[in-house]
Amino acid sequence: MTFSLLTGSETFLREARDLLGEKGLTCDPDALEPWLTDWRGRYTGRALAMASPASTAETSELVELCSRHGVPIVPQGGNSGMVGGATPNQSGASLLLSLRRMNRIRSLDPQAAQAVCEAGVILQTLHEAAEDANLRFPLTLGGKGSATMGGLVSTNAGGTQVLRHGTMRAQVLGIEAVLANGEVFDGLTALKKDNRGFDLKQLLIGSEGTLGIVTAVNVRLLPATKSKATAWVGLAGIVEARTLLRRVDREMGAMLEGFEVVPDHCLDSVLAHIPNARAPLTGQHSWNALIECVSENWDEATLREKVETVLADAMEEGLLTDAAIAASEQQSDDFWKLRDSISEAERALGPAMQHDISVPVERMPEFILAAVPAIESEFPGTRGVAFGHLGDGNVHFHIIAPQSATPGKWEDTEGKRISARVYDLVTECGGSISAEHGIGQMKVGELGRLGDPVSLSMMRAVKQALDPQGLLNPGKLVPADPKLAPDAMTA
Ligand SMILES: Cc1cc2nc3c(=O)[nH]c(=O)nc-3n(C[C@H](O)[C@H](O)[C@H](O)COP(=O)(O)OP(=O)(O)OC[C@H]3O[C@@H](n4cnc5c(N)ncnc54)[C@H](O)[C@@H]3O)c2cc1C
Repeated sequence: MTFSLLTGSETFLREARDLLGEKGLTCDPDALEPWLTDWRGRYTGRALAMASPASTAETSELVELCSRHGVPIVPQGGNSGMVGGATPNQSGASLLLSLRRMNRIRSLDPQAAQAVCEAGVILQTLHEAAEDANLRFPLTLGGKGSATMGGLVSTNAGGTQVLRHGTMRAQVLGIEAVLANGEVFDGLTALKKDNRGFDLKQLLIGSEGTLGIVTAVNVRLLPATKSKATAWVGLAGIVEARTLLRRVDREMGAMLEGFEVVPDHCLDSVLAHIPNARAPLTGQHSWNALIECVSENWDEATLREKVETVLADAMEEGLLTDAAIAASEQQSDDFWKLRDSISEAERALGPAMQHDISVPVERMPEFILAAVPAIESEFPGTRGVAFGHLGDGNVHFHIIAPQSATPGKWEDTEGKRISARVYDLVTECGGSISAEHGIGQMKVGELGRLGDPVSLSMMRAVKQALDPQGLLNPGKLVPADPKLAPDAMTA
């Protein structure tokens, strides 16, 4: 069911403005424009208006109003998502629902080590508030200056500390959300044990705004760390990287927080295209690993000594070819900058298809060693690189276009065929076509093609039960049922 622009939009907009006031609703094209294109600039849509409610009560009334008028809703946080999940379609019939005005940390309890944040709280703001209380929130990612708590919950975001602390799902103790009919689900209270049936908050985590609007979240905090050791390691191959990961994991236990891999091609691109980037090691190494260990109890010198010993032993056994441990916070940041600049550096190399995929950690080397040459030989002139979160079995698998490719055209032609092939290979390996970025509009077709039919029908049943009108983020995440009309789920 879609909203008829001609018959009802004026009444709807008038009622929405009466509810939210001037500050809470805009139809101004200039105000809307920055929020209608996704972060990567791949999708641009149109919207009836942008609503910015200031409270859960306003959000509830607004969603109820949308339900009455049949207006589709596209929830949006910081718009830093990678799969076009927060971008409306081209119909112009949807309401963009920004949660950014709801940006209060309602409470931060240092004793319980919990913080209740409204959906629009920016990740970095929570980091700073936790630090002020000598605590920390153990999830971080490159978009932390924009990503909001509501978006992080709705995409079940990952980042660079998943190895030790898990994804957003592992941080969430409670959720408050507005359902499709405007009712408020109040599940904010953290209960260590609660066996009253389904854990409904889990349904909302990772649901990308298709089952409800997250208005607040209760998250766990951890004690601040006392020390950190960041190492950059040169390796002969990805198999050695996996063996080293196992070794460091065993020796450092819960102190191992990050294990990222960077192939030489990616490091070379960063060194060539990012100002002030410097190689941490001399000589060329086929693969590099960025390893981070932290401790809540040990001092800097003790932690560093332990990491040095583990790496020296591994070097003696031929597992690694060289290693450097950051001597200062600045050097640690420099190491991370090399890792975090890969996507930016690659842009200088021309178009690329980017795939956020996962396979079982044990099978990742096998996957990379088979998939890169398979794609490069099936699509001559392309170059495959895989980098990122080896410790989570999640790499960013990028295929760089042949030099002759026409930017803008290549992505929609050969690029699409490459992505389909990559997802086939991932599925054959028992993996996931989306490790941490979600499905959004970018992968909804591929999820429909490759998803397990039983899982897909369960997803559709949940969607139908919680959003029978199909008004919450239509066309995202939940693939249309091919047995129904093609646009039945994408109102
Ligand atoms: C430089 C950079 C690095 C990144 N690195 C990582 C990374 O390492 N790991 C990772 O997982 N992600 C990463 N991301 C992606 C992004 O930051 C996350 O997906 C983040 O969770 C999105 O939050 P957001 O507030 O910007 O959400 P948006 O982009 O606004 O929305 C994302 C999805 O959530 C829905 N949504 C947003 N808010 C709500 C709400 N309150 N209620 C219901 N639905 C809602 C939207 O409809 C959309 O489907 C990165 C992004 C950037 C720009």
